[in-house]
Amino acid sequence: MIDDKDLKRVALEEGVSEERLRRLIRSGRVVIPCNAMRREGITLKAIGEGMSTKVNVNVGTSKDYVNVREELEKAKIAVKYGADTIMDLSTGGDLDEVRRLILKEVNVPVGTVPIYQAALGKRGERAVVDMTSDDMFNAVRQHAKDGIDFVTIHAGVNLNSLERLKRCNRILDVVSRGGAFLVAWMIHNECENPFYAEYDYLLEIAKEYELTLSLGDGMRPGCIADASDRAKYMENIILGELVALAREEGVQVIVEGPGHVPLDEIEASVKTIKHITDFAPLYLLGPLVTDIAPGYDHIVSAIGGAVAGMYGADFLCMVSPSEHLALPSIQHIKDGTVVTKIAAHVADIVKEEQSARAKQRDKEMAHARKNLNWERQFELAINPEEARMIRNSRPSESDACSICGDLCAIRLVKEFLKS
Ligand code: SF4
Repeated sequence: MIDDKDLKRVALEEGVSEERLRRLIRSGRVVIPCNAMRREGITLKAIGEGMSTKVNVNVGTSKDYVNVREELEKAKIAVKYGADTIMDLSTGGDLDEVRRLILKEVNVPVGTVPIYQAALGKRGERAVVDMTSDDMFNAVRQHAKDGIDFVTIHAGVNLNSLERLKRCNRILDVVSRGGAFLVAWMIHNECENPFYAEYDYLLEIAKEYELTLSLGDGMRPGCIADASDRAKYMENIILGELVALAREEGVQVIVEGPGHVPLDEIEASVKTIKHITDFAPLYLLGPLVTDIAPGYDHIVSAIGGAVAGMYGADFLCMVSPSEHLALPSIQHIKDGTVVTKIAAHVADIVKEEQSARAKQRDKEMAHARKNLNWERQFELAINPEEARMIRNSRPSESDACSICGDLCAIRLVKEFLKS
């Protein structure tokens, strides 16, 4: 469903040649998630090597808190502040309704995690271990039929990675919700994960609906002490094999990554996953670089995300200040989105193919600062409203700002240097 006009537009937006974009898509290093039943007005996004770093924002109800209107507001505010994609992670209320309303409400690609619905039933009436493999594949098919553009599938959580997990002696065994559902299901039912065992069937569905698969990191470490262990890398190896199979069938595929990773392990983590998965687009949650800042995990993640982006991560999942504490508020979604956009831009400044364009915006900001051109500064700001609000809250009597007022260093030296 992606035509020449789309490719032209996306290439222009990314500042790469059309030919290069086509080549990267053919190799699987770049994907453009878009369901075969393409939604009217959808803004397509290229994710992967050489492209600008993209940002996803998760929204969705929980079993404890169901307010569909609020989730729609969160999705809209995330898009307003620059989210490239939205994921609906709802687990409470009428899951079909929430998903369909989000699809109507936003014009960016929308992703889901169908195992949530498979595990819970449409309204949370089912026990996780009672789901059947039919429930799992039916949920994927239903989401694809509704027009979802990409789905997280934890196909790397299999008997092999589970065995590695048991031998790892982790503090926090599994923190991925989808991963936890599958681990519980596999142990209870004593069988292989159907998404792994019947991966070819999953590919058939994905192919039919042009659904992009985002291979989930069910074994991602959930704390610094558990980072970079064998269970994580075992899953990465399996995901690499699944990437190859998806590509053989012409299914677009993304790989998801950790999690909690100390700063000095990010480079190795990103580069290893990229190599093992044959340079599939890499989608990271965080990584969170410390465990001790609840309330500020958006900042913790942005630090990790910027560094991961520098080493090749392509797609950053927003982490909100509510992470580890509660379902995020609308304000927390906004704050998390803005901070993740900053991390993405910081990464783009040092990404070979995006650097010149990203740096140009910083350069223009520097000129606007030199000229005390406040309107231009607001235009260039990642969050213009916040910048304007702060400036107006303590205005200066001079044309500078109220930090130095008449003693504005920039103006003073500019006058003397006549620069
Ligand atoms: S007043 Fe001080 S802080 Fe404000 S723009 Fe001038 S030099 Fe910068």
